[in-house]
Amino acid sequence: MTVKVRFAPSPTGKLHVGNIRTALLNWLFARAEQGSFLLRIDDTDLERSTAAFEAGIFADMQWLGLDHDETMKQSARFAAYDEATQKLKSMSLLYPCYESPEELDRQRKLQRAQGKPPVYNRASLNLDEKEKSKLEAEGRKPHWRFKLSGKVIVWNDVIRGEQKIDTGSLSDPILVRADGSYLYTLPSVVDDIDLSITHIIRGEDHVTNSATQIEIFKALGSEPPAMGHHPLLIGADGGKLSKRLGTLSVAGLRDEEQIDAMAILSLLAKIGTSDPVEARRTLDDLVAEFSFAKIARAPARFDPAELKALNAKLLHETPYRDVREKLAELSADGGEDFWLAIRDNLGSLADAALWYNIIFGTIDPVIAEDDVDFLALASRLLPEEITDNSWSELTSSLKAQTGRKGKSLFMPLRLALTGQKHGPDMGVILPLLGADKAKARLNI
Ligand code: GLU
Repeated sequence: MTVKVRFAPSPTGKLHVGNIRTALLNWLFARAEQGSFLLRIDDTDLERSTAAFEAGIFADMQWLGLDHDETMKQSARFAAYDEATQKLKSMSLLYPCYESPEELDRQRKLQRAQGKPPVYNRASLNLDEKEKSKLEAEGRKPHWRFKLSGKVIVWNDVIRGEQKIDTGSLSDPILVRADGSYLYTLPSVVDDIDLSITHIIRGEDHVTNSATQIEIFKALGSEPPAMGHHPLLIGADGGKLSKRLGTLSVAGLRDEEQIDAMAILSLLAKIGTSDPVEARRTLDDLVAEFSFAKIARAPARFDPAELKALNAKLLHETPYRDVREKLAELSADGGEDFWLAIRDNLGSLADAALWYNIIFGTIDPVIAEDDVDFLALASRLLPEEITDNSWSELTSSLKAQTGRKGKSLFMPLRLALTGQKHGPDMGVILPLLGADKAKARLNI
């Protein structure tokens, strides 16, 4: 059997780290098994889906390197969903319901007050033809529910192990709304059947859905695919991440925070698994290390500080040729020597612009009054030709002539030459600045 999986985002928002974890687990599994990866756009909600969000999904996936072998859009497949709907109706597994949202709400409140689970009471299932006609004559349009079997559904989840869900404790799910539009449940099953999906890998918020969908697969005459539900992400503090996910979009991390794709992918592949959280340079490395067996049952902690640390680590090892284009986009391409001088000091690539400006632009040197003479002396001692040894020669002479040492020797020079308290080794910064600029900054 060739593995075929899908990632099925809805184009109703930007992809965030939670979505990407699902996408990545599917993609890694597909590549580890030499299988295929389908990118499915779940755009049945025509009002909330937008072309811009859809384009964003494709752009983000491409930027991350999560390439797909096939793609499809649910909005192009309404005929297939209509056909499945007819089939379920003809088997009396899809039945019309006439309760208004308010009535359903009242029912649930009553059930809760009585200490009962808020499960749909199937009142509409028991209506006879006359009663239905009467309701329709009143102008009520039915929505349609799938009739669950009431059996216990068991599957061997590839991540969670054996799962048992008693469908007798669930409401019959609504598959078609009163206006004829589809909820997610049925189209997903129809697509998974028609596209021969072998494994459904998604977040554990879908576990209950899976029991329902397994019954729909069977009702439509298909064997359900294997299922795997991964724990959801939580925040570093152990709290819910769902509310903050809006700020953790792929686009935001890429465009605003200049986070590298491999930092995001490394973190998302490793958190909540038995592997240590470490940066990996390529997706192939992550594929080689992938296994569902490594995914823990506890939620995975997503810590933006950990992402930044992984990103910095990758940046410090990045050769100039791999970063040149991105530096140019940031107007911070100062050549290979510049890159090698600054890369160890970068928290993110955006910091390169700061150092580019310090070295190739103009700054306000920071000079304390007590250091004016000391810095003027430094300026006189600097040779016209700066070499790799100039910094150590300069500081040795200054030490001998002024008696300064340690911080009082080095800090005024760093502040005057860069305007910063911290930064790369001055021995490599000085040759990049050149004699004229350095002398000018040392003299007020
Ligand atoms: N569009 C669904 C979602 O984003 C897909 C769930 C699934 O993978 O079946 O929740």
